[in-house]
Amino acid sequence: LSERARVALLARELRSQEVDWLLVSAPVNVRYLTGYTGTNGLALVAAGGGERCARGHCFFTDFRYATQSAAQVWEGFEREIAPAELLEAAVRSLHRGARPGVLGFDDAAMTVKQHARLVELAPDWELVGCGGLVERLREVKDGDELARMRAAAELADEALREVLEAGLAGRTERDVAIDLELRMRRLGAQSPSFPSIVAAGEHGALPHAEPRDVEIPRGVLVTVDWGAYLDGYCSDCTRTFATGPVADAAVEVYELVLCAQEAALRAVHAGAGARALDAVARTIIERAGHAEHFGHGVGHGVGMEIHEGPRLSRTAPEGPLRSGNVVTVEPGVYVPGVCGVRIEDLVVVREDGQERLTGLAKELVTLD
Ligand code: ZN
Ligand code: ZN
Repeated sequence: LSERARVALLARELRSQEVDWLLVSAPVNVRYLTGYTGTNGLALVAAGGGERCARGHCFFTDFRYATQSAAQVWEGFEREIAPAELLEAAVRSLHRGARPGVLGFDDAAMTVKQHARLVELAPDWELVGCGGLVERLREVKDGDELARMRAAAELADEALREVLEAGLAGRTERDVAIDLELRMRRLGAQSPSFPSIVAAGEHGALPHAEPRDVEIPRGVLVTVDWGAYLDGYCSDCTRTFATGPVADAAVEVYELVLCAQEAALRAVHAGAGARALDAVARTIIERAGHAEHFGHGVGHGVGMEIHEGPRLSRTAPEGPLRSGNVVTVEPGVYVPGVCGVRIEDLVVVREDGQERLTGLAKELVTLD
């Protein structure tokens, strides 16, 4: 889908919900629809078709981004450089081209303060919360987006391979995390897609552990969760390694998580239920007596943001996966005070199954 096609789909959705205009304020959604990558921008998308939408789509930014936006924003949007507040410029532009009607806004991303300002500026408009409309479109990726995500995942794989050449034992968790992030940047990533997790031994029992200034010992499991942000898209992967021979109990936990991960992975296809996929992994982990050690959902969507829809969990919306969704499959078992294991792949949902974007092997690798 080009930006043009995305906006056309969005406009159709607005018409079906009887919304005349949508004010898009979240930077990631502005980027998705207009192509603009700067931080200060607003878009007004017209549903079209009626006299309340006689004008076309509009984009607003400030002086600092005049050149950048001229190069990036596609011609379907009329560009305006606002002298001061973007919101004021946007509402003024609405009043110029349209009689008051229904104005949708992003109630999931707009601050209470911005909302109060919007009410003040547009007293005659009916304001309707439309948060999630653009996010829902973003859940289904096109070929260009998938190519970017594939490249991000490959880059992250390569960075980890380089880091592992020096082994893990004897280095601090923080040193490994910094090394990994630096290598991703050197390989071309704009940044990591989130702060990397490197967690050894019992620290690995914290699902979102922060890397410590603590040396990684021999004979423990080490969980590494990392991703690259490249060309506007994120990757996400987790592997757990051993630094020398580990206790049988730890190997058992590893084999259990791997079994649950591969079962859930095999169950991914268009039409599969988000809760059903979570249940595939959860049932295996529960039967092994670790129910209380797997407290998060089995996966989440990834794209322009590291966490987006669709969510795969016990409490996710029932809707089935769609072809073109990109999701993680990442069960984990966290035994407090002992160890933690998580194995995570990033996959594209296809009609007949899935395409794995993360390429590293998953059998337990023991490093020197
Ligand atoms: Zn992850
Ligand atoms: Zn994840």
